[in-house]
Amino acid sequence: MRIDIITCLPRLLESPFSDSILKRAQLKGLVTVAIHDLREYSQNKHRTTDDYAFGGGAGMVMMIEPIDLCISKLKSERNYDEVMYMSPDGELFSQSLSNQLSLKQNLIILCGHYKGVDERVREHLVTREISIGNYVLSGGELAAAVVSDSIIRLIPGVLSDETSALTDSFQDGMIAPPVYTRPAEYKGWKVPEVLLSGHEAKIEQWREEKALERTKERRPDLAKE
Ligand code: SAH
Repeated sequence: MRIDIITCLPRLLESPFSDSILKRAQLKGLVTVAIHDLREYSQNKHRTTDDYAFGGGAGMVMMIEPIDLCISKLKSERNYDEVMYMSPDGELFSQSLSNQLSLKQNLIILCGHYKGVDERVREHLVTREISIGNYVLSGGELAAAVVSDSIIRLIPGVLSDETSALTDSFQDGMIAPPVYTRPAEYKGWKVPEVLLSGHEAKIEQWREEKALERTKERRPDLAKE
């Protein structure tokens, strides 16, 4: 898989992809993450990518031309499954959308800033708009990192134990069961006996029960999804 992220603040995206699982996924050749600085596509001498809003009002608007040039260049190099704009009024990101996107080959993620992008970008250049929650961020970069992280960890081979993504919360409409590690007792707080029993079938049954209990208690809405 390949993810191309278009941003006017590339430095904001450096660290999320240069550590741990996302770094290893790239080193293993399972995903390529390319970050594109929109300023390089600016057509003016100050290399700006935003301008005042027509009609006035506070806040700058990201111009269509640099965005169009960048997307066009990428599209001339390969075919893309989706051009996704991060936007608070987009489709709410979810595990099921992440599962779907993890099956794609090439994705573009466009990060907005300031007041957002010129509406014509949304009308003509973007195939999908994604929100990571009902709140407003100052830019799309953190949202792009969240979406990419969630997608990349689902690519086979990225997690060391390939089955572990399947046992995470939200897969199968369930919340994950609780987990424990050593010591078996800390300040008198004990790990459930069954987990120390070595009895695999019983452990599995306990985990299923706990997952169900938690889902009913914390997220009764999930079972209905
Ligand atoms: N004026 C816009 C908000 C712009 S916020 C409005 O009221 O809808 C600036 C940028 O941050 C957006 O263009 C978008 O790319 C990003 N952003 C903000 N909140 C987001 C969210 N919840 N999910 C995804 N991207 C978000």
